[in-house]
Amino acid sequence: MTITEYRREFSAYNSEIELAHYQHRSGLSAEPRTEPILDRYSDLFTKDAIATLKEILNNASSSQETEQRGLRYLIGAAYVGYLERRTKEVTNEITRCESLSKIFWNGETLSVHDVAKILSNEASSSQRRELYARWTDALRSCADLRAARFEEFQSASREIGFSSSYALYKEASGVDYEKLANATNDFLTRTETPYFNALRVVVERDMADVSWSDLRHADFFYFNRSVWLDAAFAANRLKQLYAIAMQEVGIRIEQQQNIKIDDMPRPSKNPRAACFRIKIPDDVRLLFLPIGGILDYRTFFHEAGHAQHFAWISRSMAERNPEFVYSPDYATTEGFAFLFQHLFNDLLWLQDHLPALQREEQAQSVARANSLATLHSVRRHCAKLSYEIELHNAKDFRSERLAQSYSAQQSQATGFKRNGALYLWDVDDGFYCASYLRAWAFEAAFREYLKTRYGRRWWTARKAGEELIDIWNTGSRYSVEELASLLGFDEISFDFLADDLIKAVREE
Ligand SMILES: [Zn+2]
Repeated sequence: MTITEYRREFSAYNSEIELAHYQHRSGLSAEPRTEPILDRYSDLFTKDAIATLKEILNNASSSQETEQRGLRYLIGAAYVGYLERRTKEVTNEITRCESLSKIFWNGETLSVHDVAKILSNEASSSQRRELYARWTDALRSCADLRAARFEEFQSASREIGFSSSYALYKEASGVDYEKLANATNDFLTRTETPYFNALRVVVERDMADVSWSDLRHADFFYFNRSVWLDAAFAANRLKQLYAIAMQEVGIRIEQQQNIKIDDMPRPSKNPRAACFRIKIPDDVRLLFLPIGGILDYRTFFHEAGHAQHFAWISRSMAERNPEFVYSPDYATTEGFAFLFQHLFNDLLWLQDHLPALQREEQAQSVARANSLATLHSVRRHCAKLSYEIELHNAKDFRSERLAQSYSAQQSQATGFKRNGALYLWDVDDGFYCASYLRAWAFEAAFREYLKTRYGRRWWTARKAGEELIDIWNTGSRYSVEELASLLGFDEISFDFLADDLIKAVREE
């Protein structure tokens, strides 16, 4: 296979995989039909294919910067593809096991995916805790399969020359996770007091039947849903607001035939919102299931950031270098998702766009609440990173110690006591937590850049939109570290992110 043929196949494989994931998660197909696709394209991710890609990279001349970069991405994607291919059976068994796990609740039979929405809207903490206990029990019944999958990750990584799945992911992404963890541990220390002070105010004011000393993960869902802010966030205004926000930066969503929004309720639809790159730039699908209130607004704008990023990728680049569309590094696209999600943390934006929040103190309290939710997420992912470093270096995935470490780190970082039962469930593949963290740090710097260049209301500047589109054209060709340096920042900084969030959650 020539490298041109390889790229063509790689692009077709990713299109088909994304479509299969979309169909399964949207509830259109009962099973994720990924196994036959992995079989059909098995040539892409063999030891031989990896060796050939490395040889082509070694022979590429240093003047071919784009080609070298592309080959590095393809090699990274091939390592990850090798793991996926080797674990495809157990991955499907997990999906099957979880779809068969049922929870009986108030005369209804729920799937494990239905629980988050109910927990989010349940005002009684005792009800939340009971449902949460049943949910974690249901997930526990598939934990053995999850352990088996991590074991297979380890043996598959060794087959292609790595000491562990940790070493494989580090090489595939080019990210030094330990160095990143040093920065994020400092972030945890710096933001600890401001976070807990702000959280305590919300818990004591808005969550009447929860005691501050006994805050649990079951309560987190209700905290994050924030029903007390509902008055300003009616469900029927969401899409209209999206259209306005995009129009202000010069994007007419009614002309964007390539972005399809799927917000239809379906019985087995997965409520975790996501965006799929079915065919770039012609077919981008945004999957979304409303849960309620401000949570939907934040989630939708986040996914819309991904959708816009994918929809504006240059057609010729996608054809020439599909690895810049389906990059093994997700931080770049997460950065744009966070940029649009952040509009709900922006006092001026809230005042300008939400009629119920025209008065400064009302907008301020919503901006503060959303910033606290962001700070919670960042802290939670800092704890995930240090736990996942331990996990991907582990020898025994059934050990109680791992579950305890997960529970302790999550509980300490967030203040919501977390059940150890989720220690293998609450892990996104491929150190995705590190992509989120780098994206948050980048987004804070990028937003500062946009404000300096286009003013505090950068989101009304057509020129800002044009600049975004220019960057989106390049897909994920540039890492967030490279984008930051192109924009004049030395490096992305967690100190800057910490300062920004500490200021945003402080009570005046
Ligand atoms: Zn995202």
